[in-house]
Amino acid sequence: MGDIYRRAQRQRRDGDPILAMITDHELMALAIEASERAYCPYSNFPVGAALLCADGTVFTGANVENGVNSLSICAERTALFKAISEGKHDFVRIAVSCPKADLSSPCGACRQVLFEHAPNMNVLMARADGSVLQTTVRDLLPHGFRLRTQAPGTSDSS
Ligand SMILES: [Zn+2]
Repeated sequence: MGDIYRRAQRQRRDGDPILAMITDHELMALAIEASERAYCPYSNFPVGAALLCADGTVFTGANVENGVNSLSICAERTALFKAISEGKHDFVRIAVSCPKADLSSPCGACRQVLFEHAPNMNVLMARADGSVLQTTVRDLLPHGFRLRTQAPGTSDSS
């Protein structure tokens, strides 16, 4: 990844606005980097995510496990909750990297949480061969459940 990876590293600090819109490749580089910070002593299955907000801010997340398995949290939700807790509500893209998986596909719980806040957001899923599969939250969770008709930042009403 070379220069792109190094540039992304410089822009990595959470919450720092970036001057130019980050590329898909750079966003994935941040997700890969975030996976290296995973706390996963039980599954040994690191995951990283990088969430791009509409204002250009990027929040990263890693999975954080616990001895009580149900208390563990995925990388995607870590990144999303960090962003929301910092007042962000408009999301453009999320990149997900599971270095040990053939395809970095978000779990069902993350699909549901992402759907509430950003149903039309693009999702970039890393593949083991280095390529990236691009889809949307809505495509990952057809007919997704929503108790609220509209979460902040989700301008679509469909
Ligand atoms: Zn998940």
